[in-house]
Amino acid sequence: MELEVKRLIAHGKYAGSFSFDYVPPENLCLVPLCKIGEVKVEGEYEIFDDDCVEIKLTVKYLLAGQCSYCLNEAKKEVSYLTEVLFVPEKDDENYYYDGNKINLKTAVDDAILMSQPHVLLCKEDCKGIDVT
Ligand SMILES: [Zn+2]
Repeated sequence: MELEVKRLIAHGKYAGSFSFDYVPPENLCLVPLCKIGEVKVEGEYEIFDDDCVEIKLTVKYLLAGQCSYCLNEAKKEVSYLTEVLFVPEKDDENYYYDGNKINLKTAVDDAILMSQPHVLLCKEDCKGIDVT
C-alpha cells in the first residue's frame, strides 16, 4: 500500500492510477454484528510541483452480518469515494508523508471508517423483531 512518489517523479509519472485488495483489521468495522469483506481500493494520484500529492480514493466492499433491527441476515455493497491530500510538511488538515513514499494504510482505514453506514438493514423498511 505504498506510493513511491520520488520514484514516480523520477520517471515523470506525475499522474496515474493504482488498485489493490486489502483485508482490513476486524476492529475497523463499526456496525454491530457485521463484518467487512475484502476491500477493493482504487485510486488516482496527481503529484504537484510542491510535492503535494492529491489522491482520489475509492473503497468498495461487502458489509455482511445481521440486520441491526431484526437480526436476520443482511448485506450491503458499499462504495465510497474520498479525496485526500498528502503533504510533505505537517499541517492539521492533510495527511503527512516524508516526501519520498506515501503509505496509504491510514487514509484507506479512514475511508473505510467514514464509508460505513450506522446500521445494516435486511431491507429498507425493516420494522425490527416482531414481538406480537
Ligand atoms: Zn431486518
